[in-house]
Amino acid sequence: MKTSWVEIATLSALVLVLTSPVSASDPHWDHTIVSQEPGQGSDGTFWATLKGDSTKNSAAFEFPFAECAIGSHQTPIALNLTGNAISLNPITQSNDKNPPAEPERRADSVAVRYAPSISSTEGAAIGKDTGNAYVFRNTGHAVQVSFSKGYPGKLLIGKDVYPLVQFHFHTPSEHLVIKNQYPAGRQYDGELHFVHQREDGKLAVLGIFLDGSQGSSAEHPILKKIIEHTPEEHDTYNTSGAGLPLDPTKLIPVENEQVFTYAGSLTTPPCSEGVSWYVMSEPLKVAPSQIHQLHEILKIDNNRIVQNTNARTVEIRKDLHITHDQN
Ligand SMILES: [Zn+2]
Repeated sequence: MKTSWVEIATLSALVLVLTSPVSASDPHWDHTIVSQEPGQGSDGTFWATLKGDSTKNSAAFEFPFAECAIGSHQTPIALNLTGNAISLNPITQSNDKNPPAEPERRADSVAVRYAPSISSTEGAAIGKDTGNAYVFRNTGHAVQVSFSKGYPGKLLIGKDVYPLVQFHFHTPSEHLVIKNQYPAGRQYDGELHFVHQREDGKLAVLGIFLDGSQGSSAEHPILKKIIEHTPEEHDTYNTSGAGLPLDPTKLIPVENEQVFTYAGSLTTPPCSEGVSWYVMSEPLKVAPSQIHQLHEILKIDNNRIVQNTNARTVEIRKDLHITHDQN
């Protein structure tokens, strides 16, 4: 099989928010997985009916979603990329062009390794499917592509393997990026979340901003395919578009320079914590019309508003090593 992959070499980590670092013994970080909690579908869909006002910082979320309101490690947050923060923490550069082989991977290394897949219309059975397949879904809260259990794409964090379960879109973005010219944080037009789940249920999410501000930019072909084949009816999947190839690697911008990483949560109820977040600083450029089309499928803003960072450490990983393996 032709496999494309993107390697993120983690050469140095820049600590941006220096408060008290999250430790492995932190009760929230230890919080175990959500598989028995309400709101999680078998294919990695985590949304359940909102009981509170989603515009009110989740304060009104009720049991069983209390963690949305009382959790101290919630997502999204405003990611700080100001010059001040960087100058406090000089970057030590190294050029690791030859990352170690998988069994010897460094404990903090991160590699994205996705593979092309073929669309299926067996949406209901996707959780049991042992082949390499995906399905277009409208979950009612997000435009989503869900993968079968046989899909080989994965995120590698050190020696840990996190298979890719699904990816979905938010319009506008959930995370904000604080830069010198955006002291209150820049919100992008959209955000793509690749959701990975380890065998024991632990989650890792890769976030990519969507930038539709380039007036003349051409349509992104993968996004175009997703928009065309996602059903308009909520809580359904595409039952007519079988056999379409899709390579999720092509949704990762090639010019990535930095990845923010921190301990967070699901952004939809039950808002379970213990989720490892990786958010790329460089957005994926898409056509403005595509942002509009994406939004029109759900006709609502489906972003959760920014949560308190509290005593969390946000790191920036530098010197991304990107490799497209054509073998
Ligand atoms: Zn999401």
